[in-house]
Amino acid sequence: MVQAVVGANWGDEGKGKITDMLAENADIIVRFQGGANAGHTIVNNYGKFALHTLPSGVFYDHTTSIIGNGVALNIPVLFKEIKSITDKNVPMPKILVSDRAQMVMPYHILFDQYEEERLAGKSFGSTKSGIAPFYSDKYAKVGFQVSELFDEAALREKIERVIVQKNILLEHLYHKPLIDADETFNTLMEYKKMVEPYVCDVSAFLWDAIKEGKNILLEGQLGSLKDPDHGIYPMVTSSSTLAAYGAIGAGIPPYEIKKIVTVVKAYSSAVGAGAFVSEIFGDEADELRRRGGDGGEFGATTGRPRRMGWFDCVATKYGCRIQGTTDVAFTVLDVLGYLDEIPVCVGYEIDGEVTTDFPTTTKLEKAKPVLKTLPGWKEDIRGIKEYDKLPENCRKYIEFIEEQIGFPITMVSNGPKREDIIIRNK
Ligand code: GDP
Repeated sequence: MVQAVVGANWGDEGKGKITDMLAENADIIVRFQGGANAGHTIVNNYGKFALHTLPSGVFYDHTTSIIGNGVALNIPVLFKEIKSITDKNVPMPKILVSDRAQMVMPYHILFDQYEEERLAGKSFGSTKSGIAPFYSDKYAKVGFQVSELFDEAALREKIERVIVQKNILLEHLYHKPLIDADETFNTLMEYKKMVEPYVCDVSAFLWDAIKEGKNILLEGQLGSLKDPDHGIYPMVTSSSTLAAYGAIGAGIPPYEIKKIVTVVKAYSSAVGAGAFVSEIFGDEADELRRRGGDGGEFGATTGRPRRMGWFDCVATKYGCRIQGTTDVAFTVLDVLGYLDEIPVCVGYEIDGEVTTDFPTTTKLEKAKPVLKTLPGWKEDIRGIKEYDKLPENCRKYIEFIEEQIGFPITMVSNGPKREDIIIRNK
C-alpha cells in the first residue's frame, strides 16, 4: 500500500514527526520533490535531527530510504546528513538514489544568492539552496541527471555547452566570477564517487515493491500553499508539494496512492514572503513563536524566526482539498495550552464580502481575517493517549476545526516525540 504524508499549509506542519511515526510500519520511504531548502525536525531516542534531504525513515533499520527523481539532489548535503546521523550512532541507513534525479550544481546555489541580492527588497526570501535555479534548468532542459555522471565524454561536452549561457549572465547581469568547465567536471566526478553505490532505477524498484505488497510512504516537503500551481504564486516553491506529484516524483502509478495523510498544524506559521491572512504580530506572536514547535518556531534550515498566525480554516480547507486528503494529522496542539482564548480565522473578507473559499493571489493580498474566538483549555495535554481524556475545550477546538475544514482528523499530535500521538478511530 502506498500512502503520502504531505502538508496542508505553508510547510513546517510537523510532517517529519508524522512520517517518522508512520515509518514504523513502512518498508520504504520516498522523498519525491523539493530539496535541501526546507527541513524536517525529528526527535527520537538517538537525539534531535534536522533533515533536509534524507527521508524521515532513516532512523529505522527495517526501512529503505529513497531519493526519487523529483528531488533536487544536493549530493554534498546528502552525504553530510548521512554522516551527521551515523556520527550519533544511528545505523547506516539503506539508501537508494534515482538515476533520473537531477543534481543541484554548485552554480545553482550561487545563482540563487546572486538573484536574491539583485532583487534586494523584492526578493522571494529564498533559503539560497539553489532550488529555483535548479528547477528552472530542469525544465529548460539544461539540468544534469545522476545517470549522466556515467558517460564522462558526453558530460564534459554538455558542461561546456551549458555554461556558455550561464557565463553571459554572470559577466553582464551579476558581475561575478565565471564558471570553469574543468572545475565543474571535477566536482561532478567527486559527486559520482559519493553517489555511485546508491544509484538505481527507482521506479522499477518501486514497481516490484508494490507488487510484493510492501508498505511505501511518500514524504512531501512544504505544504499545499507553496505549490507552484495551486499555492500563493509567486511566493511558492519550485516543485509541486502535492500528493499527486508523488506519483511522478517517485515514478509510480497514481492509482496506487491509497491514503493521503495531510498534516495540519493547530496554529499557523510561515517562512518567506507572501500574503498570510491570519498573521499576528508583536508580543502575541513572540509568545506563540517562543512556545511553538519543539523549542520555538525557527527555520530548520536557516534558523530564522517564522511568521506566526492563528489557525486558518479557509487556507486549510483548501490545502486539504487540493491534496486529496483522506486523513488529517493535527499537530502541535499541546502548544496552545497556555491561552485563555484562541482566535481562529473562519473567513476572509475581500472587498467587503466574506468568503470561505481560498482565492488566487491577487485577491488574497486584499483579504482580512474574520476571527472567531474559542475558549482555551489551560492545561498541559502532553502524555494523554486517548481522545476522550483530552479536556473538553480541547476536543471542542479539534471538532470545530474538523467541521470547518471538512476532512476527518484521525490523528492528534500532542508533543514532538513519536509516541506523542492520539489515534482517533473514526
Ligand atoms: P515539517 O517540515 O513539516 O516536518 O515541520 P518541522 O520540522 O518544522 O516540525 C515542526 C516542529 O514541531 C519540529 O520541531 C517538531 O519536533 C515539532 N513537533 C511536531 N509535532 C509536534 C507536536 O505535536 N507538539 C510539539 N510541541 N511539537 C511538535
